[in-house]
Amino acid sequence: MIGIYGGTFNPVHYGHLRTALEVKELFELEQLRLIPCRLPPHRDEPEVPAEIRLQMLEAAVADTPGFSVDRRELDRAGPSYMVETLQSLREELGREVSLLLFIGADAFAGLAGWYQWQHLFDYAHVVVMTRPGFSGQALPEFLQQRCARTGEQLRRQAAGYLYFQEVTALAISATEIRQLLAVGHNPQFLLPDSVIALIRRYQLYQAPIHYTGN
Ligand code: ATP
Repeated sequence: MIGIYGGTFNPVHYGHLRTALEVKELFELEQLRLIPCRLPPHRDEPEVPAEIRLQMLEAAVADTPGFSVDRRELDRAGPSYMVETLQSLREELGREVSLLLFIGADAFAGLAGWYQWQHLFDYAHVVVMTRPGFSGQALPEFLQQRCARTGEQLRRQAAGYLYFQEVTALAISATEIRQLLAVGHNPQFLLPDSVIALIRRYQLYQAPIHYTGN
């Protein structure tokens, strides 16, 4: 089984990394691929170029066995639609291997707005990472029919199921990290030092300079 974890990663932080490791171990994944999004279809384009967001991810997971960073969305023109990413992963990996697409409960709430969202299930299982106490809304018929009751079902079939997995969500967000940096605060312990080193090197997320005119 191979896990796919997409996001803008602007920047990557321990909220992403800890949950990614947790699901990798829970589902005994051979590989977990982190896929930075070049041009998010549903939100503003990040100011930090995708190549630098990718570089931060690579620094973050350089020493973590089984983790890799996949640059396919950077090499594709147009909006980074997940369904096209999964299609291209299938072409690379073949029909047999189980693919698990991990998304947060916040992303899942907007799933019906994703481009060709129903076709995601042609290529992968969708695993929603939930916080303790999560009670999803009533699911539309299409999703209800796809719910797996056990994680074992995801192993027996290569794609097509929806599954909810509770994870330990840390209260860290990239927005908060960008805000800390913009006011000159230290974001240490929210994200790896190797990522902070790159933020410093490229002078990312700094407050805009206000010219006083003298
Ligand atoms: P922003 O604050 O810019 O919205 P983000 O970290 O929430 O950033 P992404 O980088 O796009 O956004 O997140 C990628 C994936 O990681 C999403 O599926 C999101 O639900 C999940 N995620 C983000 N933060 C956490 C966290 N603290 N714990 C668990 N999962 C997270």
